[in-house]
Amino acid sequence: MARASANRKKPRKSWFGWRLLFVLFILGLLGVGAICAVYGTWASTFDMGAVKDMPSRSTVYDMDGKWYSRLQGENRVVVPLAKVSRNFIQALLAREDARFYQHRGIDPIGILRAILRNVLSGSAIQGASTITQQLARNSYPDQISGEHKNAHRKLLEAFVALRIEQHYTKDEILENYVNRIYFGAGDLRGIESASMAYFGKHASDVTLGEGALLAGIIRGPGFYSPTKHLKRALDARDAVLDRMVKLGQITEQQAGAAKLANLEISKKHGLAAQQNYALAAIQKDLHELLTEDQLADGGLKIYTTLDPALQAAAEKAVDAELRKVESQSGYNHPKRADYSQKDKDERKTPYLQGAAVVIDNRSGGIRAMVGGRDFVESDWNRAVTAQRQVGSTFKPFVYATAIRKGMLPGMLIDDGPIARGEVREAPSWSPGNSDGTFKGIQHAEEGLIQSRNTMSVRVGEFAGLDEVAKTAASVGIPDLPKRPAVFLGAFDANLEQITSAYSVFANNGTRRQNYLIERIDDAAGDVLYRAAHVQTPAVDSGVSWLVTGILSKVMERGTAAKARSLGWTRPAAGKTGTTNDYKDAWFVGYTTSLTCGVWVGLDQPETIMSKGYGAALALPIWVDVMNAAGSQRYPAVAFKSPVPLEKASVCAVSNEIATTGCDRAGNAYTLDLPASLVPHDACHVHRGGVMADSDRPGENPAKRTAPEGIFRSFKRFFGGE
Ligand SMILES: [Zn+2]
Repeated sequence: MARASANRKKPRKSWFGWRLLFVLFILGLLGVGAICAVYGTWASTFDMGAVKDMPSRSTVYDMDGKWYSRLQGENRVVVPLAKVSRNFIQALLAREDARFYQHRGIDPIGILRAILRNVLSGSAIQGASTITQQLARNSYPDQISGEHKNAHRKLLEAFVALRIEQHYTKDEILENYVNRIYFGAGDLRGIESASMAYFGKHASDVTLGEGALLAGIIRGPGFYSPTKHLKRALDARDAVLDRMVKLGQITEQQAGAAKLANLEISKKHGLAAQQNYALAAIQKDLHELLTEDQLADGGLKIYTTLDPALQAAAEKAVDAELRKVESQSGYNHPKRADYSQKDKDERKTPYLQGAAVVIDNRSGGIRAMVGGRDFVESDWNRAVTAQRQVGSTFKPFVYATAIRKGMLPGMLIDDGPIARGEVREAPSWSPGNSDGTFKGIQHAEEGLIQSRNTMSVRVGEFAGLDEVAKTAASVGIPDLPKRPAVFLGAFDANLEQITSAYSVFANNGTRRQNYLIERIDDAAGDVLYRAAHVQTPAVDSGVSWLVTGILSKVMERGTAAKARSLGWTRPAAGKTGTTNDYKDAWFVGYTTSLTCGVWVGLDQPETIMSKGYGAALALPIWVDVMNAAGSQRYPAVAFKSPVPLEKASVCAVSNEIATTGCDRAGNAYTLDLPASLVPHDACHVHRGGVMADSDRPGENPAKRTAPEGIFRSFKRFFGGE
C-alpha cells in the first residue's frame, strides 16, 4: 500500500514539477514581456534625430578666408562614411563588434559570453556592447550612460540600440559612430579630428597600422593615448591586427608589415583652438548674432575681419613696449615678469596693462584686437570692457564741433588761465595746462597740436556743450555728461569706441560701424549672418578734412612728434591723451588705410609713472603696430581732401572774410578751405573794404606774440571790452 501510494506519488510529483516549470516559464515570459513593454515603451520616447545630432567644430577664418582657428568647444569634423578609410573601418569592427553586420543591435552570443565571464569573475556586467549600443550610450549621455553601469542602464541601452537599428541602416549607424566617438587628447571627437591630430592626415588616408591604432584606443583613449603612452597604444594596435588576421580580414603578412611600419605620431595637436582677445570677442559676438540652437549645432564657418599678421604684431607690440616701460627707473609698480598666477585677483592684474585696436578705415572691419598683455593671465578685454577716462583724445571732437560752428584753424584763442566765471556752466572751474604754463594768444589749431587745456576749454565754449555732445554721439560716443570738463575728456569710454570714433576722420566724416564678423555660414553652407556694413554721415567732410590737417601737425611738430624718432615715416594723423596724474596714456592715430588706438594703464587706476604721457607710453606701441601693417595691403599715402578746396583770406578774430581793416590789424591770413566752409560775410570786427586777390596775406597771419591791436580786437570780439 505504502509502496503503491509511494508509486502514485512519484508521477504526481513529476506532474507538479512540470506544472511548476510551466508556471515559472509563463511567469518568465510575462516578466520578459513586462520588461520589454516597459523598456520598449521607454526607448520609444527617445528622439532618434539625436543620433545624428552632434555639434561639430566651428571654424574661424581670417580676412582672406584662410583658416585662423577653431572655437572652443567640441573638436569634431563630421565626414561621410565614404571618406573614412576601410583600414580603419575593418579594424574598428574587428576590435569592437565583429558581428556588426549580422546582429540587430544587440549581440546575444556576445552577451551570453560576457555574462558567463562576469559570473565566473564575479564582477559587474561589462563589455559586450555592440557598436549600436555604444552609439546609443554616446548619443544620449544624460539618460543612458552615467556614473554607474547597472542592469537598468544596460537594458535601456539595449532597447534604444534596437530602436536605432530599426531607424537607421547599418552604414548610417557606423557613420554616426565614427563621427561621434571620443578619441582622447581632451577634445578629439570623431575619426577625422583624431586622424588629423594624431597623423596629420584625413580619415580617408589612414594606413592599416594607423587605422588599427585608432581602433585600438577607443576603449580607453586616455589609457592608450598614443602621445602619452605610445607603448600601450602600439600593443593595442597589434592586438587589433592579430584579431583582424583571425577574422580573415587581412593576412599574417599584412599584419606583420603594419606592425613594422613606421608610425609618426604628430607632436603638435594639429588644429587646436587658439586663445586670444580677438577670438574671445568673436565668441561673444556670436552669442549676440545667433540663437543658442544655431550655436549648439556647431559646424559654423565664421569669416572674420582679422589680419593674423597684424594681430600677432599688435599682441607682441603691447607686451614688448610695456616691458620696456617696466624697466625704466621711474616705474614703481609690480612687473609682469614677477607675476605668478597664484596672485590672480579676479581678472585684473597688478602689473601695467595695455590694449590696442586696429580698424580698417575702408570697411570698419577690426583687423586686430589686443585686450591685454597675456590672455591666459587675464582674459579681461581692456579694448572693449575697460571704461577709462579718455582725456585729450577727445579734444579733436571738440575742435570738429567748433569748426562746424564757424571756427577756423587760425582763429586767435587765449591760452591764458581760465578766469572765474568764464565757463558759464562751471563758474569756479579753472583747469590749467599739463605743463603748468600759459602761453598767451595762439592760433586755435595750436591748442590741439600742443594739447593746451585752457585753449580747448575756450574752443569748447565756442562750440557749445550740447553741440559737442551731438558730435560725440554721431561718432559713437553717446550720453556725454553735461559738464564742461568733457572738453578735456573727463569721462569714460572704451578703446574700441575711441578708435572707431577717430576712424570717422580717416573716412572724411563718414562713420563705418566697426565689426569683427563678416559672415557666418552653417554646416550646410547656408548664410546665417552677414555684416550689414552700416555707414552714416557723422562729421561734415570739410570739417573732417581740417581736423585731419591739424592732427597731421600733431605728429609733425606737436605732442606726438616723437613718432618720427620712433621710426614712423609715413603720413598719419593722431592725438595723444594723458589723464589726470598720468593714470591713462593714450594714442589714437590713423593713416589713409588704418586707424589704430592704444591705451596703457593699470587695471586699478593709479599714476603709471611721472611724465607718463601718451607719447611716452602709448605712441611706441602704435608705431610698432602701424609699421607692421605692410604698405602693400595698407597704403599710407598723403591725405587727400574729399571736397574741392578754395583759397580764402579770412580774419583770425571773426573767422569771416578778411577786409583791408583785418589786414591792417595783422589779423588777416589765407588758407585753403573746403568750399562749404568759406565764410560768406566780410569781417564785422574790423572796418575796411574787401581785399583784392593780389593783396592776399600769407598763410601765417599774425605774429606769434600777438600785438596789442590783435589782442584788443580779440577781446572786443568776445565782448571783453
Ligand atoms: Zn577782421
